[in-house]
Amino acid sequence: MDSNLIIIGGGPTGSFSALQAAKTGVSTTILEEHDRIGFPSHCTGHISLTGVRHLELNIPRMVYENEIKSAVFYSPSGKRFTVRFPHPVTCVINRELLDQHLFDTALKAGAEASLGTCVHSLLVENGYVKGVRARRDTKTEEFRSKIVIDAEGVSSTILKRAGIPTLNSCLMVRGVQAEVNKIKDIQEDTVEVYLGRKFAPGFFAWIVPRRDGTGKIGLATERGNPREYFHNFARHHPIVSQKLKRSRIESLVYHPISLGGPIPKTYYNGLLIAGDAASQVKPTTGGGIVMGLTAAKIAGEVATEAIQTQDYSADFLSKYEHRWKRKIGFDMKAMKHIRLMLNSFTDRKLDRLVSICANLGVEKSLKQVRDIDFQGRSLIRMAKNPRALATALYLLAISFF
Ligand SMILES: Cc1cc2nc3c(=O)[nH]c(=O)nc-3n(C[C@H](O)[C@H](O)[C@H](O)COP(=O)(O)OP(=O)(O)OC[C@H]3O[C@@H](n4cnc5c(N)ncnc54)[C@H](O)[C@@H]3O)c2cc1C
Repeated sequence: MDSNLIIIGGGPTGSFSALQAAKTGVSTTILEEHDRIGFPSHCTGHISLTGVRHLELNIPRMVYENEIKSAVFYSPSGKRFTVRFPHPVTCVINRELLDQHLFDTALKAGAEASLGTCVHSLLVENGYVKGVRARRDTKTEEFRSKIVIDAEGVSSTILKRAGIPTLNSCLMVRGVQAEVNKIKDIQEDTVEVYLGRKFAPGFFAWIVPRRDGTGKIGLATERGNPREYFHNFARHHPIVSQKLKRSRIESLVYHPISLGGPIPKTYYNGLLIAGDAASQVKPTTGGGIVMGLTAAKIAGEVATEAIQTQDYSADFLSKYEHRWKRKIGFDMKAMKHIRLMLNSFTDRKLDRLVSICANLGVEKSLKQVRDIDFQGRSLIRMAKNPRALATALYLLAISFF
């Protein structure tokens, strides 16, 4: 099957890139290793409502599980700090349904797809990527194209095989998430964030509720066995173990999260790299959906322009990196600094931080935050506020969305 554009991966990034190209008439094929889109899902699906609006995702009602107005941060010793907005700022979506919605939208726009097709390697001729080699059933096939967008996710197997520099493994954490029911003492419009090295070293743990008493509980850790950390959190955390006393915990899934900021280069002759594969993930929270889709849109647009002008050179495709950096580059850098700062905090420091935030009444600064995805820009706006300490601390707090 030959196309002008081949997309590796039918995750949100792959489907959204495919949509941008297919709707302009570019022949586009998505290759996805699984037989079912969106499955298995490893993601909480907690995303900003501004992100949903800016990207014009037109998500059907049935994909939404909840809307969130508030977050509670628990320090290692159990001190609390609450941030409450007057209106919903984020939503919780069903990731499997979101992936299927984006995939179906790309197909409706004219993209084609081959499921159960695992890309093994890039086809390279005269220094240009000219397609991929993939396994379908038991056969190996070549899929030829003018451009390939790699949206294979965090594994980066294909990039590694091609010798392309990939993610910064130093800031990689191992995520684990489960479904729970009958959660006690939780507000249905509030996410809970638990800080501390004992339960989630190098990251944090979370409970994200739905409106029916069920929810998603997870954490990530920079070391050790995530399964052990998860059971320790659910069974032995003094606050969480009480909330989950009557809960059934099921559907545990594991997946890495890359917090090291974008990979060094996201374009080559005939190749663009987007989403988790490019580590376009917020280093503060591990949120990659809005960032990945922002870059995916640009990747699809630049691939289309390249096909229209028949210029597939790295020189032309560098537009992609210029454009996504203009949109999210600064915020990514700022968020990486915040992540490194948080990682350097001891549990005692985190306790003090949460206490200070709770006592300073930093919610007053909320009005200055227009977009929680772009935390670097929020920092600049807030730095104009003389209550610099409060704003800096507040920024740390919002960075958990
Ligand atoms: C525990 C956890 C919770 C998270 N919670 C959130 C959250 O609340 N909010 C948020 O914004 N982000 C969250 N994330 C991050 C988010 O899941 C990712 O950023 C997002 O999935 C990236 O999308 P993607 O399309 O780039 O990659 P993926 O979703 O990983 O999609 C990649 C696709 O490529 C396919 N593929 C891989 N290799 C091949 C191959 N060789 N051939 C063919 N197909 C292939 C895969 O099967 C998959 O379908 C979370 C991550 C974890 C681990």
